[in-house]
Amino acid sequence: MIDRARLERRMGELARIGGTGTSVTRLGLSSEEQRARDLVGGWLAARGARVHRDPAANLWARFEPPGAGGQSLPIVVGSHLDSVPEGGRFDGALGVLCAVEAVESLLDAKSELRRPIEVVAWADEEGARFGVGLFGSTAAFGRLAANVAERHDRAGTSIADALRALGEHGDPALARRGPKEFVAYCELHIEQGPRLDQAGLALGVVDAIVGIYHARVTVRGRADHAGATVMTARADALAAAAEIVLEVERIARSRADAVGTVGEIAVRPGAKNVVPGECVFSLDLRTAHGLDSLVHDTLAAVERVTHARGVSASIDELARVSATTLDERIRGVLKRAAKSVGVDAPELTSGAGHDAQNPALAGVPTGMLFVRSTGGSHTPREFASIDDAAVGAEALAIALRELAS
Ligand SMILES: [Zn+2]
Repeated sequence: MIDRARLERRMGELARIGGTGTSVTRLGLSSEEQRARDLVGGWLAARGARVHRDPAANLWARFEPPGAGGQSLPIVVGSHLDSVPEGGRFDGALGVLCAVEAVESLLDAKSELRRPIEVVAWADEEGARFGVGLFGSTAAFGRLAANVAERHDRAGTSIADALRALGEHGDPALARRGPKEFVAYCELHIEQGPRLDQAGLALGVVDAIVGIYHARVTVRGRADHAGATVMTARADALAAAAEIVLEVERIARSRADAVGTVGEIAVRPGAKNVVPGECVFSLDLRTAHGLDSLVHDTLAAVERVTHARGVSASIDELARVSATTLDERIRGVLKRAAKSVGVDAPELTSGAGHDAQNPALAGVPTGMLFVRSTGGSHTPREFASIDDAAVGAEALAIALRELAS
């Protein structure tokens, strides 16, 4: 059913947009991401889809089954086209490519469908540029924080500016669609960990997605002369931040399934002979159970450390997405589909955030299929073989056929 050669050819075509070798840089709301949307939209339009871009720059392509009369609600399938800086060819892209291939294979086979199918390519899933992950899907399900469009990238361009540069209005909240407009949402994605590879299996079915908290912490101390200021008279913002980083690690380690990361840190004024006066760092906390208490304990540690050291801290919460359990019926559909392509797919919890969280949290029955990836993700080493991609696309097509008929 799946046209492997077509899938493989398109994997190469898409990877060349923003790509050199196996490395891809296709940031959200950039011209590269738009070129990727144009490429994918062109494939789908050529097969008769009604293609449009919404005000948050998500690409939608709707296939109407003959005879449905435009009345029936669609099944949505897709993933994202953006990458992190110097990311790989598969994270997000494989989900869009397999969604396109799955739908085309159903068209090729003249499968009788009762419901429309919409392919979606979410904009700016990674949040690498503006710090707002799952941007497009969050907008589509009406979950954007207020004033999010005013957030700037490092060059001073706001989300609203970036949308206007693409030809949109600049208000991503206009992309909102009601959860009642969809019957189901399915997403295929590379697994971003080693579990499928270790188990020797091509596919897994996601049972839940961890809850995620993102914040920016600013610690304010006092900049002073590094030679003239005795150790007892300092308010060193970096020393306080360093202690907080270790607390983040300790707290996450003390919980069975939690992870905590400080991946970005900036020191001001940033000179070797000046006691650091200010320190800004990122905070990334994740767990499938008890996100709020993990956040609470971590912020209490920030308070404790800064108080003890005579510095202050402010916390800018960027995102808090609860842990999400995916729909049991769709999980069953995906497991049966995997079985029919010869894979006894295990259920896995996703430690990474996914666009699928937004429809799921909005009440749309949602399912996710993982495809084995070697070399992790968010790196040029990430890799899904064409064999695994084809098996994934085939399973996705079988699931779509069941859901849409
Ligand atoms: Zn992704």
